[in-house]
Amino acid sequence: MRHPQPRSAHTALRTCVGCRRRDDRSMMVRVVVERDANGRYTVVPDPRRRLPGRGAWLHPRAECFERAVRCTAFGRALRVTAQLDLDAVGRWVERAERARQDSGPEDSTEQDGTEQDSTEQDSGRQAGARPPVCESGSDAMSTR
Ligand SMILES: [Zn+2]
Repeated sequence: MRHPQPRSAHTALRTCVGCRRRDDRSMMVRVVVERDANGRYTVVPDPRRRLPGRGAWLHPRAECFERAVRCTAFGRALRVTAQLDLDAVGRWVERAERARQDSGPEDSTEQDGTEQDSTEQDSGRQAGARPPVCESGSDAMSTR
């Protein structure tokens, strides 16, 4: 009988700024904000997790990226109120998606199972037709 590898001792869970789910950080990409010479804030991907500064975490999926953009989640997570240039991250996510599609022709998760996850969560909620897109408003009362 073997002991499992102690890799779960520090389970590195991070919250995706897009879908707000927690996941292992190896499944996600870190992004940091950089300020260029013009004083413009640019969000850049940091797949090696080496850049200094405050980072946010995101699934490398267009879905999560778009949701984060729509909810201005990057600015909130990175504590920047100024306008953020998200082009670099957008392109990075796009490329990551394409690379995954190219390299994974055996991916058969399209057929079933994709819907089950969300229906389970919805059953507890009131039957409002509003999908939980942005959790706006919850920001002010994040006392825990
Ligand atoms: Zn996500």
